[in-house]
Amino acid sequence: MATADGPAGASAAAGVSVAGIDFSRTGRQLGYGQVVHSDNVYDGSVIPVPVAVLSSGAGPTVLLVAGTHGDEYEGQILLHELIRSVDPHRLTGTLIMVPSANYAAVLAGSRVSPVDQGNLNRSYPGDACGAPTGQVAHLISRGLLPRADVVVDLHSGGTNSIYVPSMFLYRGPDEALWAQKVAAARSMALPYTMVVPPRLEPGSLSTAGDDAGILTLSTELGGGGTVDRGVLARARDGLAALLASTGVMPLAGTDESCVPVSAPVRPETVWIELVDGSAVTTTAGGLFEPLVDLGQRVLAGDEVGRVHFVDELERQPKVFHASVDGVVAIIRRPTLVRPGCHLAQVAPLCAEPEL
Ligand SMILES: [Zn+2]
Repeated sequence: MATADGPAGASAAAGVSVAGIDFSRTGRQLGYGQVVHSDNVYDGSVIPVPVAVLSSGAGPTVLLVAGTHGDEYEGQILLHELIRSVDPHRLTGTLIMVPSANYAAVLAGSRVSPVDQGNLNRSYPGDACGAPTGQVAHLISRGLLPRADVVVDLHSGGTNSIYVPSMFLYRGPDEALWAQKVAAARSMALPYTMVVPPRLEPGSLSTAGDDAGILTLSTELGGGGTVDRGVLARARDGLAALLASTGVMPLAGTDESCVPVSAPVRPETVWIELVDGSAVTTTAGGLFEPLVDLGQRVLAGDEVGRVHFVDELERQPKVFHASVDGVVAIIRRPTLVRPGCHLAQVAPLCAEPEL
């Protein structure tokens, strides 16, 4: 945990620098990590990774990351707001914010980097001498993550899917950290908390954080390649509550806070779980017509969607069904599908974990 000299891992991160940032200083600092790459666009320059550090000195350090996938926008907007609005001297500790982690992907509105096709959330722990996306992963996992007591990785569904607004909670890595994750999910109180298997995505920031023994949380906030105002408001309130629970920021809406709150009373989060059988996957290519809405409760056997055949005018569409009872937690966004696309994911309700 944090000490008067900063997080315990800060010395381990000392070898990775961020231009314009002195991590021993207080106040607001805006800088950027430097990814080295040479092509027609970037030769003779660097690909920047914008980083903001807001610090009052001693206290916990929270690392907030968005723009890991460039077409996921709620987290990016929330971090830009925090960077502009939070008075660092009202903090107790430090916020490190990376609003556009895969900067080239953000500028392209793309899930992966247009420079090397790299998926940042499959690239950890990264490589200082590797391709650009691997360099970003190295910067975050070796230069920023060791400084943090808590990591929050903000995702959304992106262009290809829409999620129910949820904390995306990886089980594990041990009882103590799992208990902290459950408590954090209660504090953030997004509409849903979606429990997923440990190490679901090798190479993710969540896996890197779990491996480092640091409390690491991730979210899925809507998606569809756009921003939903209701989801954004709920996520804004949830993030403020989560930060307050860490002790780094005063509770939103109080006299000490500089962060507004949209809805002072939020319902408790609904616990759901991604399981084998959640995915409803098409075996046909064509036009996907959803037959359910996001957040709808369905039973195993219910029709979830159907796929119309573009070239076979006499053929009936193929219907796909839920395999489990649960909440429609994710729906595919683009209408055009090919065999193997997940049309939806149905997440069963699960009991709130006991601590
Ligand atoms: Zn993502």
